[in-house]
Amino acid sequence: MIKKFSFFKFYFFLFFGFIIIIFGAIITFIIAQNTRKNITTNLLYFSESVSAAINPQRVKTLTASSLDDNNPDNIRINQQLQKVQTYLQTQGIRWSYLVFQKDNQFLFSASSITPDDPGYSKPGDIYKDPPQELQKVFQDQQSIISQPYQDEWGKFVSAFIPIKDFSTGELLAVIGFDIDYQYLQFQINRQIIFPIISTIFIFIFYIIIFFLISRQLNQTKALEESEERFRLAVDAAIDPVIMMNQEGNITLWNKAAEKTYGYSQKEALGHSLHHLILPPKKYNVDQSVNLKNFKQTGQSPIFGKILELETTNKAGKIIPIELSVALIKTKNEISAFGIIRDISIRRRHEKLLIQKNNILKEEKLKTEALLSGIGDGVLAIDQNFKITYANHIAEKLLGWTSKELIGKDVYDNITVKDGTNKTIAKGKRALSLAVKSGKTISSSTINPVYYVRKDKSKFPVAITASPINSDGKFSGAIDVFRDITHEIEVDKMKNEFISLASHQLRTPLSAIKWYSEMLLEGDAGKLDTEQTKFIDNINLSNQRMIDLVNTLLNISRIESGRIIIESNPTDLKELISTVIYEFESKIKEKKQKIIVNINPNLKKINCDPKLIFEVYKNLISNAIKYSPKEGEIQIFVSSDKDNVISQITDNGYGIPKKDQTKVFTKFYRGENILKIETEGTGLGLYLIKSIIESSGGKIWFKSEENKGTTFWFSLPLKGVNSKKGEVSINS
Ligand code: ADP
Repeated sequence: MIKKFSFFKFYFFLFFGFIIIIFGAIITFIIAQNTRKNITTNLLYFSESVSAAINPQRVKTLTASSLDDNNPDNIRINQQLQKVQTYLQTQGIRWSYLVFQKDNQFLFSASSITPDDPGYSKPGDIYKDPPQELQKVFQDQQSIISQPYQDEWGKFVSAFIPIKDFSTGELLAVIGFDIDYQYLQFQINRQIIFPIISTIFIFIFYIIIFFLISRQLNQTKALEESEERFRLAVDAAIDPVIMMNQEGNITLWNKAAEKTYGYSQKEALGHSLHHLILPPKKYNVDQSVNLKNFKQTGQSPIFGKILELETTNKAGKIIPIELSVALIKTKNEISAFGIIRDISIRRRHEKLLIQKNNILKEEKLKTEALLSGIGDGVLAIDQNFKITYANHIAEKLLGWTSKELIGKDVYDNITVKDGTNKTIAKGKRALSLAVKSGKTISSSTINPVYYVRKDKSKFPVAITASPINSDGKFSGAIDVFRDITHEIEVDKMKNEFISLASHQLRTPLSAIKWYSEMLLEGDAGKLDTEQTKFIDNINLSNQRMIDLVNTLLNISRIESGRIIIESNPTDLKELISTVIYEFESKIKEKKQKIIVNINPNLKKINCDPKLIFEVYKNLISNAIKYSPKEGEIQIFVSSDKDNVISQITDNGYGIPKKDQTKVFTKFYRGENILKIETEGTGLGLYLIKSIIESSGGKIWFKSEENKGTTFWFSLPLKGVNSKKGEVSINS
């Protein structure tokens, strides 16, 4: 746009410059012509006046030869011409002279020129290169002004006046008046200097004015453009942008302001900003924004600040805003420039946040009340394992006050020891395991761990550590623990009781077994069929009792930690074969198929054969027991990198889904099983889980009702550590 304008401007400038120059040239030319005309007219006027004074009668006597030298008329005319010469010179006329025509030649005669003058020509001298006009005068007998011409005396413009005889009208001679061309030119130049200088001045003035105007125009244009840009930018702004003059009236009101407040530009411009958007009841304009002061001094305390105000829109709705105001000073006026941000949403969020915070606070108080009311110790830990909360019981159990604990690293400040008084490494603590696995982890109550108190004493604990994950990201954990000193004591007493009771039971049971077998073998005389049947039943029930007592004893041995683990290289294949052999008659009776698949490369593994025998025995007997006739039982043994894994699969009754979490608890017996198989204690799986875990292995299963069950258990490939104890299994 600017380029186009400049282009146009340039040609405009040239055009008018050209006109000025042409106009100046025309004026100069006219003045030059006028001057020339004036001078030549004067020349003619003077020449004719002077000619009139020449007496033709005297001219008649002239001969245009040396004879004239002594002719008194010639002398008289000479004198006449010389006399007027002084005056004629003031008009630029250099000389005057008489010319005769004889035989087509022009001859000089009387003149104003004296013989001392370098331009003197004697009477009778031939005028060799006369101007054309001279010939014309002789022909036309009319006065004439010649064009500039050059002769041997220089460059001249001449007036030629014919001198005629009054009586006959005959042309006697021509009188010439020569004006120096230089003089003429000088006079002309003198006259045209002014128009030339004037033209130059006008031209310069024109250039200056033009450039000043075009600069002004450019500035105006640039200003207009910048104003346009500013207006567009302001209109494009998302936030309302407003401007107020010193009178407090709106001078700028953008589209966003229209939208926010509902007043069109037309409605807003020129109106008092304060009356338009500030609710008068709420704000005293003069006090809040000091408009009066702004009017007088152009200053206001609000400049450069961000204010939070409540404004009203056209519909009277309250709009909370954030207003930042700046002072804008231009040459002519002072304005306040404001950017408005509608903070209704922010306010709403703040309100919600406060409400949420209050709820959270309330929740926190409730949770704290709950946690302090809990009978167990509770420690809350943040993502950096710093303790953020310790309830009253935790304080009591650990001997630290909550204040002492909060902010401390849980690992550094609460030491955990095992049964041998060794500090348990950070990575093996329930808390660590829970965080790593993302699941709740409970410490074993069979092999309890110990928390160390502030006074360095320790107590056995059952720990339940739960990680807290918010949005899938670990954000802390809760450690719930209880002192199980009493439980251990009770358990110990219970185990001792079971052990004692079982021992006491074993002797009479053995006696019953012994005597009943003697009776069956006919040591006390032959028994009839009915007697044999009764004694058989006694023997069978007695055997069940013995099995139960043995299992109870084994459990109490395991639980008390008194069991001996005697690790020896063991061939698992042999163990499995022995178990199968033991159940052969039962398998045959139920017409079941047993498939055994043992990795041929599997070496002997270091474990207690008596204990692991017990594991296989239990799992295989369950598979037989809990499968219908003609069922199939598969036994696989393989190994991975670290473990030997045994798998016992049957296609029997399965374990109901709802019961699956209880499978390894004491005395659990499946509801589906109770209807089919009455024999069983619900202690087998509990016992073997304890055996496997104390051997460093794991047991797990998968089961679907009426489809079948698979149990797996692992043993470390590197072998099971032997353990000194007091009793061995089944002893
Ligand atoms: P018991 O066999 O003496 O009842 P266990 O502890 O060995 O005790 O088993 C507990 C219970 O688990 C069983 O009563 C039975 O309900 C269920 N169970 C164990 N093994 C199987 C299996 N292979 N198939 C179906 N149910 C099983």
